[in-house]
Amino acid sequence: MSQALIDSFGREITYLRMSVTDRCDLRCTYCMAEQMTFLPRKELLTLEELEHVAEAFIARGVRKIRLTGGEPLVRRNVMSLVRALGDHVKAGALDEITLTTNGTLLSKYAQELVDCGVKRINVSLDTLKPDIFAQLSRRNMLPQVLRGIEAARQAGLKVKINTVALKGVNETEIPDMVRWCHDQGMDMTLIEVMPMGEIEADRYDQYLPLSAVRDALEASYTLQDTAIRTGGPSRYARVQETGGLLGFITPLTNNFCAGCNRLRVTCTGQIYMCLGQSDRVDLREALRGEKPEEALQAALDQAMIRKPEKHDFGIAASGVTGVMPRHMSVTGG
Ligand code: SAM
Ligand code: SF4
Repeated sequence: MSQALIDSFGREITYLRMSVTDRCDLRCTYCMAEQMTFLPRKELLTLEELEHVAEAFIARGVRKIRLTGGEPLVRRNVMSLVRALGDHVKAGALDEITLTTNGTLLSKYAQELVDCGVKRINVSLDTLKPDIFAQLSRRNMLPQVLRGIEAARQAGLKVKINTVALKGVNETEIPDMVRWCHDQGMDMTLIEVMPMGEIEADRYDQYLPLSAVRDALEASYTLQDTAIRTGGPSRYARVQETGGLLGFITPLTNNFCAGCNRLRVTCTGQIYMCLGQSDRVDLREALRGEKPEEALQAALDQAMIRKPEKHDFGIAASGVTGVMPRHMSVTGG
């Protein structure tokens, strides 16, 4: 293996999140504006280029790759990329290939994902109520998502549910959702809404601190903190009554950047060294230039020099701070 990816704070990068498209078949109100302008297709990396990027990271010690978006499963032929990365898993060069999806296309792709070597996926689901789902995602697709989750489980995928906690939208439903997930053997992670991109709603209106959610949950459940760490920002508790795990991602109220092991690459080939910072390193030019291998390596080295110590998200009396101009669907959640 060539030189490992170690940043100037001594953190080793072993986890890559790749956004394969900025497009999506939902329009979640906290993630996208109703009228989104998507990138011209020529700006996107081809699937072969994305594979090339992934291989450059694998050669530098990345052991886990998560595909995200936008909605990764809406990208045409995305399964060819999943299959190619799955082959790296089968060859032992990668520990895991996984994805984060909204679930709408899982009925179609669950079996193929398994065939490609995917073992676990995250499905984002913020409500089990069809009317709230339709309002929140601006699309009436809850039944399709639930069928997708079932198809994934039937195909043998381990499914974790990610739920963004939203004030006045799903907050009273969260205890029931915990039960619903755990009864089916699915772990669940709750996420605080982050200030990413211009949307119609005010971020402060949406923001629900997970400390409050946890207090409410403790009226019905006994939560035992665990030492489980996945190198990410999630902190897990075991719910005694259900036996399942419940993760908490609290970027606004806490900061867990010291153990950060990840980088993000967008579908246009920009490396974002931090979800909550704007600095980026361009890989597309490197890939399309005259000496792509050298330029790619130089770009990865730059990313290591420039990876910041921490994000600037915060919550203050004046409102949400550290607002990022780009949408989550650009960087990939
Ligand atoms: N479309 C896929 C999905 O929804 O799972 C993958 C991309 S989506 C951007 C990844 C995750 O980011 C989802 O769990 C979504 O709920 C979350 N997300 C999007 N915008 C967010 C925001 N502003 N704050 C916190 N989480 C957000
Ligand atoms: Fe699409 Fe995922 Fe964003 Fe919802 S959160 S609009 S499903 S990219």
